[in-house]
Amino acid sequence: MVRIIDICSGKGGVGKTTVAANLGVALQGFGRKIAVIDCNLTTAHLGLYLGIYSFPATLNSFLRNESKLEDAVYTHPSGLSIVPASLQLKDLVNVDITSMKKTLKHVFYDYDMVLLDSAPGFGREAMLPLRISDEVIFVANPSIPSVVDIAKYSQLPESPEAIGIILNRTKGKKYELTAEEITQFTEMPVIGIIPEDENVLKSSNSRELAITVKQNSKASRAFFEVAATLSGVEYKVTIMDRLAGFFSRKKDYNRLTPSK
Ligand code: ADP
Ligand code: MG
Repeated sequence: MVRIIDICSGKGGVGKTTVAANLGVALQGFGRKIAVIDCNLTTAHLGLYLGIYSFPATLNSFLRNESKLEDAVYTHPSGLSIVPASLQLKDLVNVDITSMKKTLKHVFYDYDMVLLDSAPGFGREAMLPLRISDEVIFVANPSIPSVVDIAKYSQLPESPEAIGIILNRTKGKKYELTAEEITQFTEMPVIGIIPEDENVLKSSNSRELAITVKQNSKASRAFFEVAATLSGVEYKVTIMDRLAGFFSRKKDYNRLTPSK
């Protein structure tokens, strides 16, 4: 059964879109079939990050009953399925949550996971992905403002199960909050730590994903580790992996197989 997972955060700009797209590709490296849906209607960036700008059908046209959800599913060269959004917050009015969840489960029935790239916080826009998901993953930076609101999550009524927090953009500085401190404060496990990596910025400026441009970058390896955790497989970066990455440098998604 497909798992619908909301990638959300307390604060904006912490790396949700980056995590949703790179983690999606990393999960595919472990043989999982993944779709990412842009549910951030005010700042819909997923298409931008993937280098695709113009879409005949989007999540919005589906919400307006102008197209089928199937028509808004596009395939990125990495094999990742994506549903882009356009910038129309008014399309959120009158969305039938129950029927939308049913449609998602139906359209993506043969997928392993659908990742929802959410708006930050717990406002109206962020509530849609939250209400249609089975589980949530929070993205946070190692700073107090990005963590405080996550602690409020447990007070939301009927909230889906929280898998945990992906701590993004760590620099290894003493002043940063540690994973232990964050867990103590939010009562959620930290399921992955993605370091600050200029390859992420470089690749996003060239409309590509760090994980497809440089599989052996610090951030890419960390994305593969989180993907392994979520897939329930053991993953170790071997010297051969690193060498293969060094020589090929590009697009060899099938090279990664779960280590036994
Ligand atoms: P959100 O979706 O939460 O608003 P984004 O994914 O758009 O955040 O990321 C915000 C900015 O941070 C982008 O410019 C992105 O390239 C950058 N970024 C995200 N994660 C990293 C990282 N691990 N290392 C370096 N830059 C990062
Ligand atoms: Mg975003």
